Amino acid sequence: MALDTTHHWQGVLNSALDAVGHTPLIRLDRIAEAEGFKCNLLAKCEYFSAGGSVKDRIAKRMVEQAEKEGTLVPGQSVVIEPTSGNTGIGLALACAIKGYRCIITLPAKMSLEKEVMLRALGAEIVRTPTEAPHNDPESLIGIAERLRDAIPGGVILDQYSNPNNPLAHYHETYGEIAYALKSSMLRRKDIALLVAGAGTGGTITGLARAVRDAEKDSDHRAIVVACDPVGSILGGGLPGMYQVEGIGYDFFPKVLDMEPSLIDKWLKTDDTESFAAAKRLIRIEGLMVGGSSGTALAGAVRFLHSDEGRKIAEDPTANVVVVLPDGSRNYMSKPWFLAQPAEGQEELALRETIRKVIGR
Ligand code: PMP
Repeated sequence: MALDTTHHWQGVLNSALDAVGHTPLIRLDRIAEAEGFKCNLLAKCEYFSAGGSVKDRIAKRMVEQAEKEGTLVPGQSVVIEPTSGNTGIGLALACAIKGYRCIITLPAKMSLEKEVMLRALGAEIVRTPTEAPHNDPESLIGIAERLRDAIPGGVILDQYSNPNNPLAHYHETYGEIAYALKSSMLRRKDIALLVAGAGTGGTITGLARAVRDAEKDSDHRAIVVACDPVGSILGGGLPGMYQVEGIGYDFFPKVLDMEPSLIDKWLKTDDTESFAAAKRLIRIEGLMVGGSSGTALAGAVRFLHSDEGRKIAEDPTANVVVVLPDGSRNYMSKPWFLAQPAEGQEELALRETIRKVIGR
């Protein structure tokens, strides 16, 4: 695989699309220390991307590829996409720059912030019932398909089946991680453990394929862990409701490759641990992440404390990469975010309040 060498925002960029991706890999030393981990706990922080999430690269790639193939025609095509919001923001950003109309179908539970941002980018929004199964005509997918059939020039780029979804992560997200490790002072340059949440599964599939290809001619083998919420069927279990946005489904998207050599383990998380872990990333690492970032961190911490993970946790040369998919600003009005202080921070908050009222 050819490594993309343009890993920084350099010079003058042509448009916001050039500021997609190229996100930093940041040490989580405070969390690692608190957990007693000796490994390098590293976070791929996707909120630094132009549209604010891990989905920007796939949106850009799907649009550019469709233009090359002639499925998207400037001045004619209308981009329609079912999404939990972040793919929508990436697409709406590309459409704003390129001049396409854009319609996003978005389940009711997704945050107001995503909807408002989408509207500001010029997209039209159709909210759909969260509880509608994927094959229901009223679901985000059902409504998107009906709109596509009714609108002349309507195109669904379809993140659930579009190969450019995992390919964006195979080439770009992985390329950026590999480049960051290679150009770092770390003793080892490879990945010991990779942890990411799964929605469409594009992130975990693309990254896992790239990791496996990179280790083909070595005896090193990374462990790849996927996380999804209780209530999603991807990692097993029955469909149900949960609050965390962007991960988990009630069907297996085509782009999620379940080939056994790719993903070693699935971990199920619940809302409470995801939101607590997200607050922890904000509070002690200063990383302003969203709920599914908490899911990935909670999965990583749990795995590193398990029998399978302990060896990696205790190895100071091991690199653990956790993907943090989006930022807090997507969730400012959500009850889990508004609920302050974060769990475990009550004492600090109390001391702060006393200081404010009585002084030092
Ligand atoms: N977290 C958030 C907030 C997301 O929007 C998404 C995309 N659905 C994911 C995680 C999961 O990414 P993927 O679709 O690549 O599995």
